[in-house]
Amino acid sequence: MLDYSHMKDTNCLFCKIVAGEIPCEKIYEDADTLAFLDIMPVNPGHTLIIPKEHYMNVFEAPADVWAKVMDTVKKVAHGIQAGIPSPDLNIAMNNGKLAGQVVFHAHVHVMPRHEGDGYELWHGKKYAEGEAPHIADKIKNAL
Ligand code: 5GP
Ligand code: ZN
Repeated sequence: MLDYSHMKDTNCLFCKIVAGEIPCEKIYEDADTLAFLDIMPVNPGHTLIIPKEHYMNVFEAPADVWAKVMDTVKKVAHGIQAGIPSPDLNIAMNNGKLAGQVVFHAHVHVMPRHEGDGYELWHGKKYAEGEAPHIADKIKNAL
């Protein structure tokens, strides 16, 4: 059993934001979650939603905490859609270094999108013949 600490990490940038030690442009806060503007937005209004407790990523965060983060993600998505306004937006999360995670306190990005903003999505590759069921099995058997 892995010992996942969910205590505040004193070296963590986002824990410092939760504690008010580093300023942020706050969008929303409740007992368990905080939403604030990303300092380097894809577009203005790009918001980060975090659990107030320190969990590194989706793997560490318990399901009940995760559900609360997702409630706040939905709330903020509606706020961005109506307020910026931005009819379309991306919701994304980077989990681990290879996935592009830079700040290791779990956070979900909500990013307003505009015509011609130049932000690209991932590029897909085709499965080889017969590969997809095999890959699906690997995941299903691990659930
Ligand atoms: P990641 O790649 O870990 O998913 O994204 C980390 C995000 O945190 C980046 O989009 C970056 O702009 C944002 N960020 C980094 N440092 C700060 C900060 O001090 N304040 C705020 N508000 N956002 C930050
Ligand atoms: Zn933290």
